[in-house]
Amino acid sequence: MKITRMTVFHKDLPLAKPYWLSGGRLRFDKLDATFVKLETDEGLVGWGEGTPWGNTYVPAHGPGIRSGLETMAPAILGQDPRCTDKVERAMDLCLPGHLYAKSPVDMACWDIAGQAAGLSIADMLGGRYETGTSIASSVSSGTPEEMLAEIERFRKSGYHCHSAKVGSDVEKDIERIQFLEKHRLSGERILYDVNRAWTRAQASVVMNAIAHLGVAVEQPGETLADIKAIRHNTTIPISVDESLVTLQDAMEIASDGIAEIFGIKLNRVGGLTKARRMRDIALANGIQMYIMATGGSVLADAEAGHLAQSVPEEFRLGCWSCQDMITIDVAPGRGPRSENGVLTVSGSPGLGFAPEESILGDPVSMYNSS
Ligand code: MG
Repeated sequence: MKITRMTVFHKDLPLAKPYWLSGGRLRFDKLDATFVKLETDEGLVGWGEGTPWGNTYVPAHGPGIRSGLETMAPAILGQDPRCTDKVERAMDLCLPGHLYAKSPVDMACWDIAGQAAGLSIADMLGGRYETGTSIASSVSSGTPEEMLAEIERFRKSGYHCHSAKVGSDVEKDIERIQFLEKHRLSGERILYDVNRAWTRAQASVVMNAIAHLGVAVEQPGETLADIKAIRHNTTIPISVDESLVTLQDAMEIASDGIAEIFGIKLNRVGGLTKARRMRDIALANGIQMYIMATGGSVLADAEAGHLAQSVPEEFRLGCWSCQDMITIDVAPGRGPRSENGVLTVSGSPGLGFAPEESILGDPVSMYNSS
């Protein structure tokens, strides 16, 4: 089987309301999404999505995906999409780095490979556990009362897992975390996501002040070196998210004991082929995981949902439903949806569904094998 055509679509996905993180340092109004359709000489068609969380969150942006696809197109066309490691290698040789530009192609290849085998992507990744994945809500930075109101809104939809965005001055963060923990319900879990905003000193002060609360904190510093230093000053479980980009990062975090939780975001790490190796490093080292889309539509949520559902439940902390934060649905009535705070992928072959092409608009580029 060979990839004969790659069609690229660009779609802006407006957020239902402005979103703040990193203590209000970063604001987001819309997401720049790229959708990739791969066609093959055997008639199978696969879909992928690459949607970075804006252009200020991590080193990734929508136009970079489309530019990277143009550069990589000659290396992608003619590949057998079922051979995901070989496609990965071809892209890595053609364009070192730029992992986020590769993830939509990788996703479309897994979609086709699953359809060809008659297996869901989760089954292709080792086996789909029946139980769906708890969705972590994404609670924008705000006053303690505003953040609690947002959590209460999610509770009404069945959520019991939340990612609350903190990371401003020390006193405000201690106050916010203590307030939200005081109002946390039994059986509910809140991850406090700093999104890199603290200095090493700020992280140590806040984390030691809340150490008795038994909570976990995500990405408390800018770099892996910062988090390694912070790790020595606190006993709080740490999740690494933005600083987990490569397999080498995953190995360093695991072997040096830098964190107890991986936050794996598919677009950032370059797609399922690379992310499943991070999953395996986590499993081999007693590290739990949040597996999420970096952002995007139901397609991106489904991709993450498939990998999440290949993880044993005791290691699987949550996923995300970014689709609930945007105002455009590219696949109405299709794909996994939030049900009582849980996302469950189907056992249908491949991704299990395709977007409604007319909603994506005209392609911005099309590459054909010669
Ligand atoms: Mg995070």
